[in-house]
Amino acid sequence: MTEPATSRIDDACATANRRVHVITYGCQMNVYDSRRIVQVLGAEGWVETADPAMADLILVNSCSVRDRPEKKILGTLSRLLPLKEAHPGLRFGVCGCVAQQHGDALLDKVPYIDLVFGPDRIADLPAILASTGKGLRQSRTTLDAPADYTFLDVDPSVETGATSFLTIMKGCDRFCAYCIVPYVRGRQVSKPADRVLAEVTSLVAVGVREVTLLGQNVNAYGKDRPGETDFPSLLSRIAGVPGLRRVRFVTSHPADADDRLLDLFGTLPALAEFLHLPVQSGSDSVLARMRRGYTAAQYLERLARVRRAAPDIALSTDFIVGFPGETDEEFEATLRLVEEARFDSMFSFKYSSRPGTLAAQTRDDVPEARKAERLARLQTLQDGISRERLARFLGREEEVLIEGPSRDTRQGGRGKAILEMQGRTRTNLTVNIATDVPIGEARGRLARVRIDEILVHSLRGTVLAWEAA
Ligand code: SF4
Repeated sequence: MTEPATSRIDDACATANRRVHVITYGCQMNVYDSRRIVQVLGAEGWVETADPAMADLILVNSCSVRDRPEKKILGTLSRLLPLKEAHPGLRFGVCGCVAQQHGDALLDKVPYIDLVFGPDRIADLPAILASTGKGLRQSRTTLDAPADYTFLDVDPSVETGATSFLTIMKGCDRFCAYCIVPYVRGRQVSKPADRVLAEVTSLVAVGVREVTLLGQNVNAYGKDRPGETDFPSLLSRIAGVPGLRRVRFVTSHPADADDRLLDLFGTLPALAEFLHLPVQSGSDSVLARMRRGYTAAQYLERLARVRRAAPDIALSTDFIVGFPGETDEEFEATLRLVEEARFDSMFSFKYSSRPGTLAAQTRDDVPEARKAERLARLQTLQDGISRERLARFLGREEEVLIEGPSRDTRQGGRGKAILEMQGRTRTNLTVNIATDVPIGEARGRLARVRIDEILVHSLRGTVLAWEAA
């Protein structure tokens, strides 16, 4: 899970308009949806504020895939409740998968929530707000049928950075046993390829250099539109957009990662060498119970294939430990897979039952203490491998796309005198760079950087050469 991302402020307009503060938890898809919320409200005269105390509307956009999202949302909103008491016009809303999942029940349970809306209802937000303005509390969580679903067009003017997310499909048809996505996001719908191309082109026109394509099962793109553009073909077309320097995609399912797709990593210059390919378990029997549709050996063969195409590619993955019935032996198979796969990074979680899923019908029988112990063993093993993988960068020259001031600089720490910037390698590693080039000139430029220092999860380096402005 990521930390909450708060919205940016537009000081110029903040005094004249109604203001919205959006708190985002969860995946990149939620970050993208939060941008669309700001876009839809912006068209109605709202501006975004980073300060909840300045807001007329506070929205929490949260994920229900893992963890205890309802608790998190209520914790966040109850901390902000004094603002509502001080400012009676302030409204609280909940959106995202949690809203989709709980709907009216959230309104029934929490008297200070004014509106609840699901991911398919973002475009309806102005109408929902008009109703809540008349004192009605609202819950809108219908999911559109795939044939009726319309993607919101991206307004490139809300993008201000060198990198951007772009949703190209939504929903999922796979129904993995533990996963709530098909129930809260609906069945798979792919955005027409020409629209994706037009959106990428419009993003590049406002200075975006790197686009990350998003979808719950992004590499199944096009499977709901037989005979039209499939994912490898779409990637090839996007990689050819003039001015776009990098393209990434997330999240992929191993069974939809075919040879054509994996081989593109060796042939498309704009396709950055990073692949997140969730495996979830190293045990064939657990994978079967999870309904993942591949074995550990088949998964490792996918990794070998992509490494043949791009030997230096960075690979990351997801694991769930303590899936119902997971034995010590099955968990040991996970550790063996990790040893063999040599991932660069990993996200790992203890299993928790999601209502309505197939796995929720089976008793969650692995004790919490055993889940915690397995998680710790898995993470300790991966930490060592991650350090070893990171060490290979020391002394190397890397292409870094500068994104902005480093976190340290933003927080007023290191770099008060010398600005420290932050960028990413093609392998998706953060690099901190001290430089006297003004941030306005550096943002969005590529630099050739020598890596001087390996930090815990990131790198520090020196610019050797800048791409011509
Ligand atoms: S492929 Fe991913 S999003 Fe789809 S059901 Fe499985 S885990 Fe969920």
